[in-house]
Amino acid sequence: MDRSNPLYNRIAARYPLLDVVTADASDARRLVADSAQRAGLKLLAPRFGTTPLIEAGCGAITALLKQTERHLVIVPAAQHLLADPVFVQLLTESLRDIERGGHCVVLLSAWRRPCQQLDRERVVLELGLPSDAELRDLVVAALTGDAGLPPDLELVQQCLQAARGMTRSQLRRALRRLRLGRDHLDEEDIAALHAEKRDLIAHGGVLEVAAWAPTLEDIGGMDTLKSWLGRRRRALSEDARAFGLPAPRGLLLVGVQGCGKSLFAKATAQSLGLPLLRFDLSRLFTRESAPEENLRHALAVAGAMAPVVLWVDEIDKAFAGATTGSDVTARIFGTFLTWLAEHPDGVFVAATANRVDHLPPELMRKGRFDETFFVDLPDVQVREEIFGIHIRRSGRDPARFDLERLGRASAKLTGAEIEQAVAEALSVAFDEQRGLLTEDIERAISETVPFVETYEEQVKELREWARRRARSAGQDRSLRDLFVDARDGGESWRP
Ligand code: ATP
Repeated sequence: MDRSNPLYNRIAARYPLLDVVTADASDARRLVADSAQRAGLKLLAPRFGTTPLIEAGCGAITALLKQTERHLVIVPAAQHLLADPVFVQLLTESLRDIERGGHCVVLLSAWRRPCQQLDRERVVLELGLPSDAELRDLVVAALTGDAGLPPDLELVQQCLQAARGMTRSQLRRALRRLRLGRDHLDEEDIAALHAEKRDLIAHGGVLEVAAWAPTLEDIGGMDTLKSWLGRRRRALSEDARAFGLPAPRGLLLVGVQGCGKSLFAKATAQSLGLPLLRFDLSRLFTRESAPEENLRHALAVAGAMAPVVLWVDEIDKAFAGATTGSDVTARIFGTFLTWLAEHPDGVFVAATANRVDHLPPELMRKGRFDETFFVDLPDVQVREEIFGIHIRRSGRDPARFDLERLGRASAKLTGAEIEQAVAEALSVAFDEQRGLLTEDIERAISETVPFVETYEEQVKELREWARRRARSAGQDRSLRDLFVDARDGGESWRP
């Protein structure tokens, strides 16, 4: 344990009060115990068991003060204790004696609880998720086994990739489970490790590792956006870094509902060859622990899993809550905006939004995203492509359908409505026990009331906003052209 270790340093230098904020209390205990031993302090680690928390917390401090030799006491669940005036008062009054005796109190907190009375005395240390170097030892030991086989470097890399984002304790347990009855792990265990991480992260509710992501071939249109993403892919390489190119940061997709923004955000991961992590901002407020802690942990997991695509769906909805919500909500979104500007290399953020009136101006500031794209209603050619994609997805050859006719008949429909029309036509054909025909789809189209007819004003505003602030995701036709689309001839509706 080197001298630059902030935990060991503080303990060795006889700081009387440390507050270790961690999502992994058992690992923190281990690290604190190691540091105490190296710094020559004896350890008091009371188990609180069924004793009421305040009684147990105060008991731990009193027990420390009785020691004649230098001791360190670990006090768990401190995020609750720091809210209790009796505990805080006892600790405040005892600090002088604790320091005089050369003792140290280490609080373990699941999240950082503000405590004005102790803020001058308390040193808060955030124990983040382990780095690759810290995970490597565990991974190599599991791969080489008791026989100490030489490590297969490729396998170590794959295993590390699967382990990133786990705490040390989580990884230790997962490796132990996978090794049950066997000497060492092999490549077949990598998928199981990924699955375990997926479950652990999903359990938190705020993040979700996607097991499957669509590809760019699943998306009709958005050609400009697709080629832009191709350039970003190259910019991710080591060569690009050596050339002095900054690491890609991400993109914001703004546009009409159901036109494939989320689909594209997901496909970004496939295209960049990175794992996809979904970040549900609205869930920050629905869990038991403090939203600050949820955010801190989610961002730490994203950072630890880098390189990764972090998909933030409907960012506008979350910010709508932030402007009307409490101080806590405003603070959380302030933290998130700062993180967006400063986030670590290797986290590519793909965010989507429908409503621009909810987006704070800070979000649009340069540096938060590499680019903002506007995703409009599909034009006639793109509609043909989307019909082709969904017909193929149903297991049929699109060449056997009159896609041009379908494209012309479906003016004003979104991609989601086109998908729905194909699904509807399929169900009719299935009921009538015959093959799917172009006419079935045409009929389904004629029965669809386009979303934009109800939300015409909203779509107009969106386009107006995008004209000045975003690039069009579609190819070779500027936004202005999209506003009066000659190829959609015959449409009465004009934005
Ligand atoms: P929302 O803002 O409501 O979330 P969105 O713009 O994110 O909408 P998606 O959720 O990506 O739209 O689209 C819904 C579904 O519609 C997709 O899963 C896909 O099946 C279909 N779809 C939409 N646009 C396209 C497209 N351009 N190509 C192929 N399919 C599409």
